[in-house]
Amino acid sequence: MENVVIIGSGCAGWTAALYTARANLNPLLLTGSQPGGLLTTTSIVENYPGFPEGIDGTELMARMQKQAERFGARARYGEIVTKVDFAKPPFKLWLDEELIESKAVIIAAGASHRRLGLKNEELLERKGVTYCATCDGALPMFRNKSLVVVGGGDSACEEAIHLTHFAPKVYLVHRRNQLRASKIMADRALSNPKIQPVWDSIVTDIYDVSKDAVTGVQLKNVKTGAVSDLACAGVFVAIGHVPSTGLFRGQIEMDEAGYILCRKGTYTSVAGVFAAGDCVDRVYRQAVTAAGTGCAAAIDAERYLAKLHA
Ligand code: NAP
Repeated sequence: MENVVIIGSGCAGWTAALYTARANLNPLLLTGSQPGGLLTTTSIVENYPGFPEGIDGTELMARMQKQAERFGARARYGEIVTKVDFAKPPFKLWLDEELIESKAVIIAAGASHRRLGLKNEELLERKGVTYCATCDGALPMFRNKSLVVVGGGDSACEEAIHLTHFAPKVYLVHRRNQLRASKIMADRALSNPKIQPVWDSIVTDIYDVSKDAVTGVQLKNVKTGAVSDLACAGVFVAIGHVPSTGLFRGQIEMDEAGYILCRKGTYTSVAGVFAAGDCVDRVYRQAVTAAGTGCAAAIDAERYLAKLHA
């Protein structure tokens, strides 16, 4: 029987592991399929306090892991929870056939990339359609070619700026005529001579499945209705995230978009199950806020377990 199992290994998960380890709870962390979470797909993190020069996302996560493990947190790498039963304690989690029982659970499952929802997006994934410029931008298929980034947030700006290291032209296709990104990122993107914004436009198709490669996109201007084609060798989709909470549907309360609903700090609708990070947060979604709620979930879990044993 575990005291506390932490699902997820992003900022929230590792911070929860650090705090529960230091509370002598001997936590078990299940990393999921992407150890380190979404931050490992970013390049330099410039807004995590304490790193004035910025820090590589993967490096930051490796440091969080090391810190939590130093205090005794145990991790199982690449382990994916396939089923849960939170009907009553002890809570049950399955890793395929293997059953783990725990007195408390902290869900820090994070979020995954939102997709455009186009048929050809799926067919051309990894053949020119990607969700991570940092991971894929330097691939030969994108070098010295025109590229398209879709989105208007910080991620889209960051991706577009990163791609200018490899591509002569990056089109930033956004569905409105104003970026959602923070001012500093928006200014950096829009002042870059290699980045050309395409305002008020959505991608309605991606070519060319018959060539098994991306050769261009079909765009629709949402104001005028005009449809046009734009040649490019890659489509980088950066239109936000969806919470990775499908596994918990029917077990704990969530909103219509799948974000876990917490009350009283990090308490979910099930006493003993706590939630933190991007799977809860549809507002701030920062590494530092995820770490903060991971800490809060650990403290809430520690107090819950103390009451249980009192
Ligand atoms: P985001 O802020 O939610 O932005 C998503 C963008 O995609 C928005 O511009 C949105 O358009 C657009 N969009 C959403 N659905 C769309 C669809 N179906 N079709 C076309 N466009 C669509 O997401 P994000 O940029 O990934 O950022 C997430 C969080 O991480 C934010 O809090 C951000 O500040 C943070 N972040 C920070 C940094 C940094 O500081 N270096 C880097 C990356 C991310 P609308 O604007 O019209 O809604």
